[in-house]
Amino acid sequence: TYAIEARDLYYTYEDGTVALDHISFRAERGKITGILGANGAGKSTLFLNLNGVLTPAGGEVRVDGIPVTYDRKGLISVRKQVGIVFQDPDDQLFSADVYRDISFGGVNLGLPEEEVRRRVDEAMEWTGVTHLKGKPTHALSFGQKKRVAIAGVLVMEPSVVILDEPTAGLDPQGVSDIMRLLAELRGRLGMTIIIATHDMDIVPLYCDYAYLLNGGKIVAEGTTEALFSQP
Ligand code: ADP
Ligand code: ADP
Repeated sequence: TYAIEARDLYYTYEDGTVALDHISFRAERGKITGILGANGAGKSTLFLNLNGVLTPAGGEVRVDGIPVTYDRKGLISVRKQVGIVFQDPDDQLFSADVYRDISFGGVNLGLPEEEVRRRVDEAMEWTGVTHLKGKPTHALSFGQKKRVAIAGVLVMEPSVVILDEPTAGLDPQGVSDIMRLLAELRGRLGMTIIIATHDMDIVPLYCDYAYLLNGGKIVAEGTTEALFSQP
């Protein structure tokens, strides 16, 4: 079974825009899957359907082979299993300092204090932000905020992490740092990672498999070697 899978997914917005037009998508466990597409292709709509923030109008989403249900219990479960790191870290960092920002999700899950502390320390170490622990989040650089946002998602211990434009706004060094971090999470923690991006360059370098989305349809998919090899 795949870590996460969407079958024949269909989604329309209230104004009638068909944002996902019967797409099938799957992410293999422990791999980095890319969703490549221009602005408006449907990337955000897809991953908001993958973590239950949006309810599909047709088709289904399965996490670890089990269909997502849209009752309270099902939604709590899918949001815990599928973490999203937004493009702009300011959209998910609200607390006074780095430690509290990273712990927020764990506290929200109602985990015991000890367990939250253990997970936050671990996530800070993974993402290389331990030295920033007591800093006010607003004083961090953009790249540091990105790492803090990733740490905040890791604290929930999701089985799938989706990142929207993880490299946007970073300089080349920042890009390779973030992508190396993701490769490490995949390798050492066996996490399933999905990245949505319009950056053609990072997909062949860092993704194992990729989907090309255009106008709400999947127009190509395959291993990155197959997709990006020169004819
Ligand atoms: P089949 O339909 O014959 O099973 P697929 O086209 O589904 O073959 O898959 C081709 C190869 O790509 C398989 O080895 C499969 O494991 C792999 N694959 C499919 N989706 C992903 C993904 N998201 N990440 C990594 N590998 C994948
Ligand atoms: P991407 O993330 O690839 O930029 P989106 O998923 O945001 O693409 O958008 C897919 C399509 O849905 C676009 O045509 C976009 O204009 C439309 N769309 C996105 N959000 C809304 C909304 N809230 N209401 C109506 N249309 C929307």
